[in-house]
Amino acid sequence: MPFVRSACLAVMIAAALPAALAAEPLCPSTWPAQPAAWVAHINEVNRGLGIPPDYAAKHNLVPLPEGSDLAQAPRDVYGRKVEMVAPAAAALKRMFAAAARDGVKLETVSGFRSMNYQSGLIRRKLKSGMSIQQALTINAVPGYSEHQTGCAIDLTTPGVPAADGSFEHSKAFAWLQQHGADYGFHLSFPPGNKYGYEYEPWHWRYVAAEQHPARSR
Ligand SMILES: [Zn+2]
Repeated sequence: MPFVRSACLAVMIAAALPAALAAEPLCPSTWPAQPAAWVAHINEVNRGLGIPPDYAAKHNLVPLPEGSDLAQAPRDVYGRKVEMVAPAAAALKRMFAAAARDGVKLETVSGFRSMNYQSGLIRRKLKSGMSIQQALTINAVPGYSEHQTGCAIDLTTPGVPAADGSFEHSKAFAWLQQHGADYGFHLSFPPGNKYGYEYEPWHWRYVAAEQHPARSR
């Protein structure tokens, strides 16, 4: 039953969220430290999956919040619902429209994924006989995936398989490299990223616009 949370946890999250939301924009450039109860829950889930306790720190990963108040992003290539936090979904729609005006068709593959969903993906791989080390080369550690925040999106374009490296050579990728930042979208895992993740040209993260002191002076 991967989607059922304990009532106790729901209360913990409800208590932790308002403070976090009040202090930070939904998709900040740097994630603030997460509430201790949430971090403890992440650790417990990962212990249950057999993930080494020092795995995240060794990969320069920090615990991330779970997105809430989700909004619809454009449906995925199979017509399934895709969600992101509201400002990210709105920015994505603006970006898709701008790309379309330039003759580029962007499509979604995957947006928000809860930590429970992420754990389920790994559990299925373990059940199929994969080692946890192998599973973690494919799926992010629960609690540390940008998809859990609701700020990240996997993109593709017609003719390119989902989550495929060949996206790098598409017209859509070239467009994103040139214009993505105008809409707040940035490539999370370029070649040689500090997390040791493989290069993921399809994975983009929305970062809320920040105040630039230099400009307001
Ligand atoms: Zn992704």
